[in-house]
Amino acid sequence: MSVLVVGSIALDTVKTPVAEHADLLGGSASYAAVSASFFGPVQLVGVVGDDFPKDHVQFLAQRKIDLTGLQHATGKTFRWSGEYMLDMNTRETRSVELNVFEHFTPTLPSSYNTSPFVLLANIAPSLQSHVLDQMSRPKFIIADTMDLWINIARADLEALLKRVDMLILNDSEARQFTGENNLIKAGKRIRAMGPRFVAIKKGEHGCLLFGENEFFSCAAYPLEEIHDPTGAGDTFAGGLAGYLASTVQGPVTFEALRHAIVYGSVLASFNVEAFSLERLRTIQQHDIAARYESFRLMSQFEVTL
Ligand code: AMP
Repeated sequence: MSVLVVGSIALDTVKTPVAEHADLLGGSASYAAVSASFFGPVQLVGVVGDDFPKDHVQFLAQRKIDLTGLQHATGKTFRWSGEYMLDMNTRETRSVELNVFEHFTPTLPSSYNTSPFVLLANIAPSLQSHVLDQMSRPKFIIADTMDLWINIARADLEALLKRVDMLILNDSEARQFTGENNLIKAGKRIRAMGPRFVAIKKGEHGCLLFGENEFFSCAAYPLEEIHDPTGAGDTFAGGLAGYLASTVQGPVTFEALRHAIVYGSVLASFNVEAFSLERLRTIQQHDIAARYESFRLMSQFEVTL
C-alpha cells in the first residue's frame, strides 16, 4: 500500500562543528519520502522553484517516488539554513527564505486521494488539514509538527489533532505544547487532544510511544560519529510510515507501531551519518535489515545465567 507524503522541499545550508555545506537537498517531505520509499510506493506533494536542480528531481524519481503531485512554481525554492552546536543536538536556525513555499497550497492529483497511509510532514497545520479535506477517509494519518506552529498556529494544530491517528513531535515541542515538563504526562495530554498514538522523539536518547493503555520506550541506535542531524525526525517518520504501509493489512496495532518505530529509528540513524540525503542514496535493503537485527540484539533484556 502507498504512503502519501506532503511537506517542504528545500535547499538547505547546514553548518556543523566540522563542516558547512550550502544548497543541499532538504525539506521535511524530501527526507520523509525517500525514507518511506525503502518500503514501498510513495506519492509526494510539495513545491519547488525554477532553481531546483534537475538532479534532485531525478533522484526522487529513481527512488520510484510518484511525482505527479510535485508543483513547479516560478521563483526560488524554499531555503533554510541552520547551525549545530558542539553537542550536535542544539541547533540554531540562521535563516529562512519561504520563496515559492509562501503561496504553496497542497493540491492532490486525483490518483492520490485514496492513498491509505498519509504522512503530513512538517508544514503549517492549516495546510496539513487542507490535504485531509481532499481525501476519502485514509486508513492511518500521521502528522509531524514543529515549535513554530505551536507558537503561531496553535488553534490550527489543535483542530488538526482531532483528525489524525498519530502525532510525532520532539521532547521540547511536547513540553512547549502541553506546558508539562514530564514527558509521560505530556504524551498522555496530547493523546487526550485527539490522536490515538503519540511519539515523542528525544534525539540521541530515542523515542517514547504512547497508545491507549500501552507504552513503548525505544533507544536510539548508538553511533560514534554524527555528521548532520538535519532531517533525522523526518526520516524517522518516513521510515515508520513506509514500514506500516508495507506490512499492516488490517487496523494499525500498537505492536505494529513498535516495529515501525524501530525501523524509523534505523533509517534516521543512517541519515545522520552524512549531510543532506547522501547516506540514504547509498544504503540498500540489506543494510537496513542488518542494522535492524543488530539494534534488536543490543536492545534485548532477557538474561540467561
Ligand atoms: P528536522 O531536522 O527534522 O527539524 O528537519 C529539517 C528540515 O526541515 C530541513 O531540511 C528544512 O528545510 C525543513 N524546514 C525548516 N523549517 C521549516 C518550516 N518552517 N516548514 C517546513 N520545513 C522546514
